[in-house]
Amino acid sequence: MTPDVRKQLLIGGTWLDAADGATMAVDDPATGETIAHVADAGPKDARLAEDAAVRAEREWAHTAPRARSEILRRAYEIILDRTDQLARLMTSEMGKPLAEARGEVAYAAEFFRWFSEEAVRIDGGHGTLPDGRNRMLLSRRPVGPCLLITPWNFPLAMGTRKIGPAIAAGCTMVLKPAPQTPLSSLAVAAILEEAGLPDGVLNVVTTSRAGEVCEPLLRGGRIRKLSFTGSTQVGRLLLAQCADTVVRASMELGGNAPFLVFEDADLDVAVEGALVAKMRNMGEACTAANRFFVHRSVAGEFGQRLAARMGALVVGPGTQEGVDVGPLIDAAGRAKVEQLVADAVERGARVLAGGRTPDGPGCFYPPTVLTDVSPESRLMATEIFGPVAAILTFDDEDEVVRRANDTPWGLVGYVFTEGLDRALRVSERLDVGMVGLNTGLVSNPAAPFGGVKQSGLGREGGRVGIDEFLEYQYLAMPVAR
Ligand code: NAP
Repeated sequence: MTPDVRKQLLIGGTWLDAADGATMAVDDPATGETIAHVADAGPKDARLAEDAAVRAEREWAHTAPRARSEILRRAYEIILDRTDQLARLMTSEMGKPLAEARGEVAYAAEFFRWFSEEAVRIDGGHGTLPDGRNRMLLSRRPVGPCLLITPWNFPLAMGTRKIGPAIAAGCTMVLKPAPQTPLSSLAVAAILEEAGLPDGVLNVVTTSRAGEVCEPLLRGGRIRKLSFTGSTQVGRLLLAQCADTVVRASMELGGNAPFLVFEDADLDVAVEGALVAKMRNMGEACTAANRFFVHRSVAGEFGQRLAARMGALVVGPGTQEGVDVGPLIDAAGRAKVEQLVADAVERGARVLAGGRTPDGPGCFYPPTVLTDVSPESRLMATEIFGPVAAILTFDDEDEVVRRANDTPWGLVGYVFTEGLDRALRVSERLDVGMVGLNTGLVSNPAAPFGGVKQSGLGREGGRVGIDEFLEYQYLAMPVAR
């Protein structure tokens, strides 16, 4: 069944084919079948989209904040009304189970509601400077046309987390979604149109030629802001491209989350937290727990209990009700997980659950628990991006904090302990942007999401999410006497 969504580029309020007529296939990872063809933009189309964003910039920047807020609010309501339709669309292009897709629709919509509320609270300032002779007036203005680049793992929410604050701030945009999952972005663009977003404010270019399409925009001098979510490797490349014309950049990059279970943890809570932190989105999340450090005295029991729970999860096509674990995004994603598990096993890891690729179509991989994992294993220094929990043991707090921090990434860490002192002390010592304390879920539109070190720059969501799309102007004037 072909999904009922526009499959063209949205440029200046018009849905268009790519200038050279190119299209690209979108495949269902559960079956390997092509479910749609969408326009495959080239640099010429990207230039048109940029022109449209630049043309719309001035008027949109001066639109009343209340009007911008109400567009977001309407779009929030439309998304929620269409939860089932959008969830099915997302599952068909990305694979996640329908229940998770419905959860993502609610999460994605919430960014629009949150930023509809922030749009009318953009503040400035007024004061007398310390010398007493001068005043300052602070005002805030949109940063200008933005390029938004999103990954495939949360096809709707990664887009709304950027589009919401950009609309609230009064910025225009060119959105380039991941080629595996363009349909959810096209659906959200059509919903914003329906909600009254003026032509040219949001332009969408779907493409299989990301580098050719994006680089000229970043080097061209008219795009003033890049908001990127994706791998650290691509983030670095884009930062270098931003340097030419000093484009402001926010970067939500990869992670290598440590999950710490102390000897005084409530193991029921820790296993529940581990399931969420590991299995949300089949492990294809930047926040996924990648390295489980469990105190030696409870590691055996924790491993057995986690293996029992993970081994009981139902694997299958995400469209089937009752399925807990859908396919991985594509054959390359699955091959990477297989290789990481094989490497860990060669280095001495024991398989407590899963570990074997099933026969048949689709990119399925079973929930897998490995114990006695060697610190030298490749999966310790790589985002697994799959349903594999790798367990190592530790003996004392200083040692585990040092090992947890021994990575170039710093997105999120999880800490499980019943001791308040230890909970706060260890959380504060972790070099991460976010901590889940006795919980496996940190993502929330009301909280600032982001990492330190090579996990990124800036924050999305929360009160500060809109700041990424605003500039200050400071006006100095003498105090009249
Ligand atoms: P990716 O390969 O870095 O791709 C992300 C996006 O960047 C895609 O749209 C991709 O398009 C595009 N891209 C790649 N090369 C580009 C270039 N030279 N110029 C412009 N755009 C380019 O990452 P992914 O595999 O889609 O997503 C998984 C990664 O995202 C993981 O590392 C994960 O941790 C991270 N992530 C981070 C967060 C966070 O908030 N911190 C959230 C979700 C995911 P093409 O595929 O066409 O190259």
